[in-house]
Amino acid sequence: MLKKSKIIHIGIDDTDSPKGMCTTFLSYEIVKFLEKQKVEMLDYPSLIRFNPNIPWKTRGNGAVRLTIKTANPQKIKNKIMQFVVNYSDTKNGANPGLVFYESESIPPSFQKFSNLALWKLISRKKAKQFVSENKIDSFYLGNGQGLIGAIGAVGYKFSDHTFELLCYRKKSQFGKKRIVSKDSVKKMQSFTFPETFSSYDNKNDRVLITPHGPDPVFYGIRGETAKSVVLASTIVSADEKLDGYMVFKSNQGTADHLKNELEPNDLKPYTSGFFVGKVCSKPITERGGHVFFSIEVKGRKIRCGIYKPTKITKDAQNLIPGDKIRVGGGIRKASKNHSRVLNVEFLDVIQLAKNILLTNPTCKKCNKKMKSNGNRQGFECVKCGNKFFSKSKLEIPRKIQSKLYLPDISAHRHLTRPSQRLKKRNRNTLFDTSIPWFNVF
Ligand SMILES: [Zn+2]
Repeated sequence: MLKKSKIIHIGIDDTDSPKGMCTTFLSYEIVKFLEKQKVEMLDYPSLIRFNPNIPWKTRGNGAVRLTIKTANPQKIKNKIMQFVVNYSDTKNGANPGLVFYESESIPPSFQKFSNLALWKLISRKKAKQFVSENKIDSFYLGNGQGLIGAIGAVGYKFSDHTFELLCYRKKSQFGKKRIVSKDSVKKMQSFTFPETFSSYDNKNDRVLITPHGPDPVFYGIRGETAKSVVLASTIVSADEKLDGYMVFKSNQGTADHLKNELEPNDLKPYTSGFFVGKVCSKPITERGGHVFFSIEVKGRKIRCGIYKPTKITKDAQNLIPGDKIRVGGGIRKASKNHSRVLNVEFLDVIQLAKNILLTNPTCKKCNKKMKSNGNRQGFECVKCGNKFFSKSKLEIPRKIQSKLYLPDISAHRHLTRPSQRLKKRNRNTLFDTSIPWFNVF
C-alpha cells in the first residue's frame, strides 16, 4: 500500500551550552541522516535568531527549523528525537526543545508566538501551555526552555532574510584553536562584498567569520544569497580538514528584534525595541568609557547606555538636551548600582537642537565684551559706559550629525542590520536545489 507523504515543520532549540555543541550542528547531522532516507527537504534549513537580550541564552539565542516531506512521519520523528537526545549538551545546562507540526500551512497562533519571542521574554509556562492547547507533538529535556525557540522557529515568517553558510569541524578538532588564513578571508570579502558581509573587520584587522568557543562551527559566512555564501566558502582556506557545511536561511542582519516601539509605561526587563524621544540630560561618560544619558518619551524618562565597544560613544557624547532621537536596543534589568537602562544598539539622530551659548554682549562702539552689573542688572561697557540688558546668543556648531549611528562592525550582534543592508530586503527566495546548499566533504 502506498502511503501519502506528509509535510512536517520541525523546530529545535537550546541544545547547546557554553561548553559545547550547537543547534545548527545537530541540524546538520539530522540533514545528513535525512539525505539518506527518502525525505524531501522543502526549504533551506532556517536559523532564526530570537530576542538577544534575554539573560539565559547561550551565545546567539538561535533556533532551527527544517521543513520536510516524508511518507514515514513517525519513523523520522523518532529518529530526530534520538538525535536531539544524543547531541544536546544537557550535562552542561542545555534544555533542548523539539516541536513537530504536521500541516501544509502554519496557523497564525504560531506566528504570533514567534513574533513575541523576537522581542520579549516568554516564560516556559507559556510555551508548555501553547503546546498543550494546540496539541503539538513535542519533546523536551531539562526545564523545557528550548520549547520557546522550537515553537518560535516553526511559527516564524520571514519578512527579510539573509543566508549563512556554516562549516563544521571534524569531531577530533572540537575545542582546538581554529586556524584560518587571514588573507583568504580578506580576499573573499573583497571579491564578494556586499553579497557577503561581516566577514572581515578592515579597521581592526580582525577575522569575523570564526567563533571562539568550543562549538563545532569552524566558520560562518553571511550573505544575501545561498549562491554568494557557497562561492565565498570556496575562497576561504582553513588549516584543517573540515567535515562539511550547510547553508541556512536566516533573519540575521535584519534587525528583526528592534521593529517594535516600546511603551515607556510598561518597561519589562529583557525586552527589545526602540523609542523615539528627546534627550533630556547631558551625556555623562562613566568608568570604562560608557556613555549614559536620558531621553523623555511620553512624559517618562528613559536612561540610555551606549557601551564603549560600539565605538559610537564619542558621537553620543555630543548629544544635547532637545535633540530628537530614535534609539533601539534591549532593556537591562535594574541592579543595585544601576537603574533600568536601555542598552543602545543603534542611535538615529532625527533632529538636532540648536546649541546656543549665552555670553555677555559686546559693546558695538568699542568692540569689547561688556561687564555684568550683577544678577538682572544688565551689562555695561567699562570703556564707554554703554549699557545693554540681555545676553547675546551664540550658536555653536554641532559635532554630531542628523543620521543613523550603528555600532562598529566588531560589536555587531547576529541580528544587527549592517549599514549596507539598511534599505535592502530579500523576500520569498525560492529553494534552489541546484545550489549545493548542503555538502559533506
Ligand atoms: Zn564701549
